[in-house]
Amino acid sequence: MKFLYPSLILLLLMTTSCKVNHNNSGNINDSFQSFSEQVVTDFLKINPSWALAIGLHNDDSTLEINNIQRRELKLKQYKIWKDSLAAFPDSALTESQKMDKDLLLNHFNYYEWQCNTFKSYMWNPAEYNVGEGFDLVLNNPKASLEHKLSLVNKRLQQVPAYFENALSQIENPTAEHLQLAIIQNEGSKYIFTQLIPDSIAKANLNDEIKNSLQQGLNNALKSIDNYISHLRVLDSGQSNSSEKRDFRIGKELFEQKFKYEIQSSYSAEEIYKIALKRKAEIQDTMFKITNQLWGKYFGRKPVPENRLSAVAMMIERLSLSHCHRDSFLQTIQKQIPELEKFINEKQILHLDPTKPLVVRQTPPYMEGGGAGASINDPGPFNKDGKTYYNVSLLTNYSAAQAESYLREYNDFLLQILNIHEAIPGHYTQLVYANQSPSLIKSIFGNGAMVEGWAVYGERMMLEEGYGNNAPELWFMYYKWHLRSVMNTILDYSIQCLNMSEAEAKKLMTQEAFQQQAEADGKWKRATLTQVQLCSYFTGFTEIYELREKLKKLKGNRFQLKTFHEQFLSYGSAPVPFIADVMLR
Ligand code: ZN
Ligand code: ZN
Repeated sequence: MKFLYPSLILLLLMTTSCKVNHNNSGNINDSFQSFSEQVVTDFLKINPSWALAIGLHNDDSTLEINNIQRRELKLKQYKIWKDSLAAFPDSALTESQKMDKDLLLNHFNYYEWQCNTFKSYMWNPAEYNVGEGFDLVLNNPKASLEHKLSLVNKRLQQVPAYFENALSQIENPTAEHLQLAIIQNEGSKYIFTQLIPDSIAKANLNDEIKNSLQQGLNNALKSIDNYISHLRVLDSGQSNSSEKRDFRIGKELFEQKFKYEIQSSYSAEEIYKIALKRKAEIQDTMFKITNQLWGKYFGRKPVPENRLSAVAMMIERLSLSHCHRDSFLQTIQKQIPELEKFINEKQILHLDPTKPLVVRQTPPYMEGGGAGASINDPGPFNKDGKTYYNVSLLTNYSAAQAESYLREYNDFLLQILNIHEAIPGHYTQLVYANQSPSLIKSIFGNGAMVEGWAVYGERMMLEEGYGNNAPELWFMYYKWHLRSVMNTILDYSIQCLNMSEAEAKKLMTQEAFQQQAEADGKWKRATLTQVQLCSYFTGFTEIYELREKLKKLKGNRFQLKTFHEQFLSYGSAPVPFIADVMLR
């Protein structure tokens, strides 16, 4: 078996099993602890891409190939672990262990569902891309450049087999994922034409390894080009297997994916209905603020009768204050220390001053998905590594596109974006998650908790007086919040209710006041992902509900700082799990 690597074969032989000691809870707790630690270790061995992505550099020479053998191996192993986990009675576990058990079970069930039911490895060619892995290997802060290049050399030898497998797996891809795969694999090529060659030039290597690397690079590039040209043939419809699958997954699969991925106490349909109600409330509030600010910006000009038009005019007026396209990155860089200062002064939560946040241009292979800014963290195994705030530059935008984008991310909204992405949003939450003692909660982090926290942070910062309660900032906050709400409405409507591109864009531009560029990007994203867009509003709703419940329960003993720090201390566990413990 060409595709099975030594660590895998070894694992087949030493399959983790456990013997539960039923004598008392203490022993069960201990045995669960050692069992779950062993599961994590072995899990990362059979998931080398996952391990690398979270900063574990134990097996950097292996390029994981998602072929049938590897899927079967994982399924078999997960089944064994599921049986072992079932032997631990919930009543004997600590709160944190119960969360770990549920997270593991959920992941194993999710993986089974992905392999047997969802099968995106067949219809999403963008799942095959080798760029990021090589970049991560080279970014390992703890290895010498020469050592890293020897790993890169071994990894390069596996690229042809990787794409051979990819082509054998793909069947009736969606047009949308085909195009994404082409863009992202094109984007990855710079790693083999620039990044690795530059590293080779800097390193102290003998001719033998240099030649081997060069040969590997040539073959890798040939494989990528070959993959891309096959995808182009499929895309142009000139192939037998080019019948395209609809990107919409439908209500049934959507609810299932929602259950595994969001792990909410609500169903997708329930949260969709809550979002519809919230949309109407936000529009009301925005109209009220528009009336309040009208004279200041429009003097004696009458307020339009159509409420949505009035709100749209106010947004347009306030959106005119924005930074220049060339200083987008620098503007973001300047705001970070201001947010830190506010949080420290207001005692919102403890910020670890030893963890640096680096604002940088998004690397090219990560572009193409339609997102403007995102956090890229070093993971639980690389606690001293840098956290990056990736910002897409507007270099490829025309003047009109750039203007549209900058109006969307105007001076008010850009502050909210930084709260969401950086402080106290994603970056701060990740710092806490990486300190959480449970590796399982870091590894199987819940997206709705992570996004919900960032969305919660926006509202909480304004409630605490960030921006001195300026109506303009609140107004733009509501516009932004409406976007989270709209993400849920769009995701559900497009994937489950067959909403068309025209209807979706009309909804975004007219009812959620989004600029055309934003709406175009969001449409693209809604065609490429499912459920993820629901995570923002679902997580927010559940975190806010939890805080309000605790406020009521504790009365004047409630402290915001304590609430935040306790909430974050569990790592990225699903909100209902955390709520369960905090309400007890
Ligand atoms: Zn302008
Ligand atoms: Zn986010």
